[in-house]
Amino acid sequence: KKITVAIDGFSSTGKSTLAKQLAKALGYVYVDTGAMYRAVTLFALRNGFVGGEQNNMSALVKLLPKIRLKFKFNQELGYAEIYLNGENVENEIRTLEVSRYVSQVAAIEEVRFKLVDLQKQMGKDKGIVMDGRDIGTVVFPDAELKVFMTASPEVRANRRYKELLEKGDQVNFEEVLQNVKERDYIDSNREFSPLKKAQDAIEFDNGDMGRKEQFERIYNYALR
Ligand code: C5P
Repeated sequence: KKITVAIDGFSSTGKSTLAKQLAKALGYVYVDTGAMYRAVTLFALRNGFVGGEQNNMSALVKLLPKIRLKFKFNQELGYAEIYLNGENVENEIRTLEVSRYVSQVAAIEEVRFKLVDLQKQMGKDKGIVMDGRDIGTVVFPDAELKVFMTASPEVRANRRYKELLEKGDQVNFEEVLQNVKERDYIDSNREFSPLKKAQDAIEFDNGDMGRKEQFERIYNYALR
């Protein structure tokens, strides 16, 4: 019987790596909800609603109905890439520029309503692994399996820093560390569905055990 797997936690804790592995092993669909908030943020940046002198969130909210998000499976990559109004933005949403504003955009109630609704639709047939910040608490409170991932800010910033460098993004470590801490703060303290561990989630700290062990433990739960 297919189930729903919800993976939540702080930025760069390895949620998506674990989620992708699980989805592949179980033959489930993987959905990266962070990519959805990032795509809306890219849209806001392109339209000058964020990134300028001051944010214009009400203009963004007005244009929300014009934002179409879709995931299309990429056979070569083995996971789905995100499309913003028909354009593949999978790479563009991963820049530090988008990371700087995403938590502010994700704190807007109307943005969350729209995306949570989409996420619920995507998961209605079960057989899904979804990662984010509020999957086990808000999107799928009835998920059969919930994981909550943590790690120190330094460990996480280091991971994000290496990823950005590999992609040729010119960043320094301090900047990335500050961004990670800032997002944690905004994500955990916002009014609507703040980041928190669901009571029934299994918690993993990066220091606890190796990646392979984490995967195996969760995979075994999923098979039960
Ligand atoms: O997972 P990722 O780091 O790509 O997420 C980017 C940002 O999107 C988070 O820092 C958070 O502000 C927001 N987000 C959210 N709810 C989710 C997924 C992501 O608020 N379910």
